Parts: sequence; C-alpha cells; structure tokens
Amino acid sequence: MSLEKPKLAQVVIPAWMAKLLAQVRETEQEEGTFEIEAEDELPFAQLGSWVALSGVSPRAMALYWFMAMHLNLKRGDRYVWPSKDALAYLMQYSRGDKIDPFLKELVAIGAVIVVSVPDSSGPQKRNVYRLPATPPSGWSGPVSTHDWYADHNVEHPENLGSPSASPIAAPRRPRLSSRTRWAVFARDGYRCLACGTPENLTIDHIEHQSRGGGHEIENLRTLCHSCNSRRGAGALDEVDR
Ligand SMILES: [Zn+2]
Repeated sequence: MSLEKPKLAQVVIPAWMAKLLAQVRETEQEEGTFEIEAEDELPFAQLGSWVALSGVSPRAMALYWFMAMHLNLKRGDRYVWPSKDALAYLMQYSRGDKIDPFLKELVAIGAVIVVSVPDSSGPQKRNVYRLPATPPSGWSGPVSTHDWYADHNVEHPENLGSPSASPIAAPRRPRLSSRTRWAVFARDGYRCLACGTPENLTIDHIEHQSRGGGHEIENLRTLCHSCNSRRGAGALDEVDR
C-alpha cells in the first residue's frame, strides 16, 4: 500500500499574509535536510510523536498542540503566528508571559523555532513560529512509540505476532532518559554552555560513550547541536574541563 501525497488546491492568500511570509523566509535561514523522514506527509495533520516522547512537560505539550492547530495544510508551510496572548488564553492563562517557560522547553528541543519579524501595523516586532515536522538533526531522543517502548523494555502493543518488528529483540545500549535530559538542561539554564543559544539543545557526553562515559549527570552537559558537532571535530577544547 502506498500513500500518495495529497494534491492540494491552489490557495490564494491575502497580500498581507504573503508579505509576512516573505519577511519570515527572509529573516530566517532555512535549515538543511532533516535526518528523519517527515511523518506528516499523510493526508492528515499529525503532531510529531518525537515531541510528545521528548519528556517536555504536559503543559509544554499542550502549548505545542495549540500552536500546531494553527498550521495551515493548504498553504503547506510550517509557520504559525498566533499572538502569545491568544496562546496564553487557549492555555487558560491571563497573560502572555505565563507561557514563557513552556515555550522555552519547546525551543530547547527544536520543536518550535521563534522568528522575529517586523510587524506591519507599527514599528514593533512580532514573533512567528516555525514548527518543524521532524526533529533537528542530531536529535537523540525517541522518535517513535517503538523507540519509547524499547527504551522502557516494554513490548509494544502492536508487536504481537510480528517478531521481526520487535524492537526489543536485541539488547542495546540504553538511551539517555528524558528525565536526565531535562535535568541537565535545567541545571545548565536551558543554554548551550559554549555559545549561549537557547535553541536546538543536545546533551553532550563529556567522556564520550565510546570511551566508557556513561549517562551520569556529572558526565553530561548542554551543548547546542552545532557546538556539539564542532566538538566532535575537536574544535571546542575550551569547553572541555
Ligand atoms: Zn552552541
């Protein structure tokens, strides 16, 4: 069975929206290719399982859902621009800044990318949000329920009768738990320890796993994906303790 990408009717969007989108694309440097196939090329909107399985707080997940509700499948891009106040009201808060901690969690794992663009109604800036369909490259958390069940050593409910699909057939190195991941992010202030960015954070093993380094919190630190990649090339010795 093959699922064809749905053919979508040509959409006419208002001029102000076209202008805003052009500004967003100009403001933002698009990331390159993702490592994992988009799972939302089905005919229906799907929320990324990897966000739900990432261990973000339930409120951050609710915020992600409310943001994703603004995705426009006909327009076909991944930009949404509800105001922070509107998102806060949807979350049953009275003020926009109440949702900042949850937004911070989503930004930290690359589930939401905040783009600041000029506001056509005045001199101020406004935020537009991009919700990538797939995890950022370098994502090491679970991306599917199969991963999650395997990590927790529980049989996936849909594995019955299909031994080849069993993810727990072969023992493997345990993945870093999401509890540990978030504890390290919180300890390090949700910032890359090398460059300070709050975006696309990853967990770095100070003593690399191939050299016997484990998942103890003392052996872990927060680096953004690009600093983590550079560190692999030996360019980050100043961060190494
Ligand atoms: Zn960095």
